Parts: sequence; C-alpha cells; structure tokens
Amino acid sequence: MPRHIHLIATGGTIAGTGQAGKTSGYEAGSLPVRSLLDTLPPLPEDLQLTAEQLCSIDSNQVDSALWLRLARHINQLAQTDIDGFVITHGTDTMDETAYFLNLTVKTEKPVILTGAMRPSTAASADGPLNLYQAIHLAAKPEAAGKGILVCFCDSIYSGRDVQKVNTYKTDAFNEKDLSCLGYMRDDQCYFLNASLAVHTTASRFDVSGLKELPRVDILYFYAGAPADALDFYASRARGLVIAGTGSGNYSPQWVEKIRQLSRLCIPVIRSSRIGHGIVSRDPHFEGSDNCIPAYTLPPQKARILLSLALTVTDSYAEIEEIFRKY
Ligand code: ASP
Repeated sequence: MPRHIHLIATGGTIAGTGQAGKTSGYEAGSLPVRSLLDTLPPLPEDLQLTAEQLCSIDSNQVDSALWLRLARHINQLAQTDIDGFVITHGTDTMDETAYFLNLTVKTEKPVILTGAMRPSTAASADGPLNLYQAIHLAAKPEAAGKGILVCFCDSIYSGRDVQKVNTYKTDAFNEKDLSCLGYMRDDQCYFLNASLAVHTTASRFDVSGLKELPRVDILYFYAGAPADALDFYASRARGLVIAGTGSGNYSPQWVEKIRQLSRLCIPVIRSSRIGHGIVSRDPHFEGSDNCIPAYTLPPQKARILLSLALTVTDSYAEIEEIFRKY
C-alpha cells in the first residue's frame, strides 16, 4: 500500500513570488499549491500525494479562527486513509501554529509544517528542498507519535520548542538551548531526541465545539515601562503574558499591579524576552497566586497555552499545572 500524504497549503514565502533572483521585496502566498508541487522531483511509487489550498496568506495574517479551522480540518482528515500531513506555512508565525496544533490535533499520524525563507523566484530558493524533505518525513513511521513537527533547512524540530531565530537566513529555526529533534538528509530522517511535553492525543484541549479562543495579550517589559499598560490590557483580555527581562522580571510597580489583577481573576504568565533558559517560580516577582511562570515557553507560545487553558479552567493552580506539563 502506498503511503498517502496530504499537503495543506496556506501561503507564506514558500509560495512567494517577486523579482527574479532577489530574496527580498516579494509577495508571500501568491503561488498556488499546484505550482509548489511542480518544484518537486518525482516521488517514489509507494508515496501518493494529494494537495489542497486552505488559504493563500502571509503568516502575519494567521489568527485564532484559522487555527481552529486548521485543527478541526486535520482532526477530520486524520479519520481517513491519509497516513501523514504536510502544511506549508509562512515562517513568521510557524512556531505559533505548530504549538497550537501540538495542543489540539488528535492524531498520532505525522503532521509536518514547512515553509521557506526565500521566495520561489529567488536564486537558490529553499522552498523546494524543504517541501521535498517534509513530504518524505510525513511518510516515515518514525515521525508518528512525536507531536507536530517542523521540517526546515535539513532539521526536524518539535512544535513545542521550535522558534524562528533569524530574520533572513535560510537556517532560520532552532529549539534554542535544546537544538533539534533530528536531521533530514535528502529523503532520510535521523531522530535523536523527543519532546517530553504533553501533546496531540494526550492533550486535554478539545477544539471541536469551540467558537473562539479567550483573548490573551502579551505585554513587553522594558526599563521604565509604565504599569498602567497592564490596566489597559486587563480591561480587554481574560489573561495576560508578560515578556519580562532576564528570568521573567519586572519592576515593583508591575509586581503591585499584577497583585491587584488577582482580585479581578486575571491570570498573568511570567515569561522572558530573552529567548533561552527557563522562568521558574520566584515569589519576589510573582507576589500573588494569579502569577504563574511560563517555564520554557516564550511569550507567544505562553499566550497560546494560557488561552487554551482558559477554555478548561479558571483555577490558578490548575493553570500552573498545565504550564508545567504542556
Ligand atoms: N512574511 C512571510 C510569512 O510569514 C515570511 C515567510 O514565510 O518566511 O508568511
């Protein structure tokens, strides 16, 4: 039986076109999925590829409505004879989509995100090789049960820890201190690590009946940042994430303001703007039970987890437990 891989195209630079040869000044998401398929070398006979165009956008237009649609779509298709999925996606928010799907997709089948840093019309466009490797990875039994994966520039990353770390180089992703899960060489995969965080079939988040995600906003702390910004966001959002300095730190004025938000039942996640390391419990900066460390999640992923956590609980203790495990 051939392995059936289904490609879901959403746009991004991999589907971008611009001035011949140039890597900048292009339009993302302008190429249809059939043109992406034309860039592939012939696939082996035991691999059957189907494809669809879900949308054609720059990934800065991705929102929670699209995430819900995508997760539900994959959950439905996963009930069919499809053996694995590839999603082409813009790189700017790929780490967020990968983490959202890691928490909400209910299948052990491989789900691989990929994209490109250079548009299809650039000299040495990186999209064709990334797509070729992602399709082969999606067909590998070794890629099953590992959560959502990102395949990019010869490396395999976990949806939990992957992050974009370079603004324009083709090797634009890593897992920060954690490196990667493994490597691709042509059509072969070599796994070295696995993420231990809860994902996919073990995740408690169910988006099947969810109309929208609770609003959670991110506030960036910097020297002298006024604490009244917290009031502004607290009046609009169900939860907040602070991108703090160092190990998730901020001023005494922010500590005091966050303590006041406890009375309004607003959970606040302490994360860091640094990008490496861990934010763990620190009573000095938390100062109240509504304030919960992000552990190793960066602000943009802590935002997703808090939003999903608020669909199942309002309990600060339970939210903290979720942050420890997911
Ligand atoms: N702005 C593009 C996007 O995220 C960047 C990329 O795909 O590399 O859609």
